[in-house]
Amino acid sequence: MHPLIQEHIPLKLYTTFGIGGVARYFAEANSIEHFLELYSWGITNRQKIFVLGMGSNVVFPDEGYDGLVIRYTAKRFTFQQNIAVVETALSLSALILEAEKINLGGMERLFGIPGSVGGAIYNNAGAHGTEISKFVESALVFEVPREVELDTMRLLDPSNLTIPKPKIVDPGYFKFGYRNSLLHSNRAIVLSTTLKLKERSGEEIKKVREDIAFWRREKQPVGKSAGSFFKNPSLNMSAGYLLDQVGAKGMQEGGIMVSDKHANFLLNTGKGTFTDLMKLSERLAHLVEEKFQVKLEREVEFVQ
Ligand SMILES: Cc1cc2nc3c(=O)[nH]c(=O)nc-3n(C[C@H](O)[C@H](O)[C@H](O)COP(=O)(O)OP(=O)(O)OC[C@H]3O[C@@H](n4cnc5c(N)ncnc54)[C@H](O)[C@@H]3O)c2cc1C
Repeated sequence: MHPLIQEHIPLKLYTTFGIGGVARYFAEANSIEHFLELYSWGITNRQKIFVLGMGSNVVFPDEGYDGLVIRYTAKRFTFQQNIAVVETALSLSALILEAEKINLGGMERLFGIPGSVGGAIYNNAGAHGTEISKFVESALVFEVPREVELDTMRLLDPSNLTIPKPKIVDPGYFKFGYRNSLLHSNRAIVLSTTLKLKERSGEEIKKVREDIAFWRREKQPVGKSAGSFFKNPSLNMSAGYLLDQVGAKGMQEGGIMVSDKHANFLLNTGKGTFTDLMKLSERLAHLVEEKFQVKLEREVEFVQ
């Protein structure tokens, strides 16, 4: 077995929701090289593979994950003029702070999103009228080989299973949309990226960042969650408003409850399970559909 791989690791330790069972195999990849080695191990050993960032937008089922979870942790970065070159496990907020030190900004309204740059690209994370897609200049992407390609290789040359080399892509590759990108369907992994920032005074950036942090403290509950649970159905209709109208605040199922502060935040009170979360979220979606004929779509990913 690869020396970085551990067995039966509780996944609740690696998600902000804090629920879910164990991973059959689990490893942290703190470099691109380790990531590719681990991915290769997974393929050679016919494991299904899930790549985790900071775990702030995913939930694992109570049965856990019967495969290999690779937690990507490579986070080196550098700046070249106004371009940030980063390995994508770097946290978005850490990047914003580092850029501020050298008077580079633009992304400060994304401050406080508790995910990695890679997770942000996957979901086109956004807040306060801006999104990560506005900054991506290029990326180094690992495209997951298709099963049919692997089966062919296994048949023709089983001792030489190869994985594709990562390739550089431009922003158009990602087909960014609202909390969406091509990565949702092709499951490619962004290993590193370049982001174009703006020259701006550190003081100015700090002011915006602090206002945003204050706003988050005022509006969002503290606790184990994955942020907004449902996507907003449209630009001028928020899921939080609809949920509030059906009396969602305070509703509870087992150890999962809707925050009293924000109707689109579901919180793990401590002993919540995936089953509780499924039940509560289905109940909420049903209530909204019944009253408003609007189908809410999950923003949080349930890992299969
Ligand atoms: C309190 C709170 C507030 C939040 N506020 C916001 C907000 O304002 N706006 C917003 O958009 N989101 C928000 N979120 C959700 C979440 O933080 C973002 O979606 C974040 O970008 C997820 O990043 P992550 O590293 O945690 O990804 P994970 O949760 O680890 O993974 C999410 C998905 O991204 C994929 N992924 C992870 N890394 C990579 C990579 N390098 N390449 C390709 N795919 C990858 C994973 O496979 C998975 O499918 C909030 C969450 C919390 C808990």
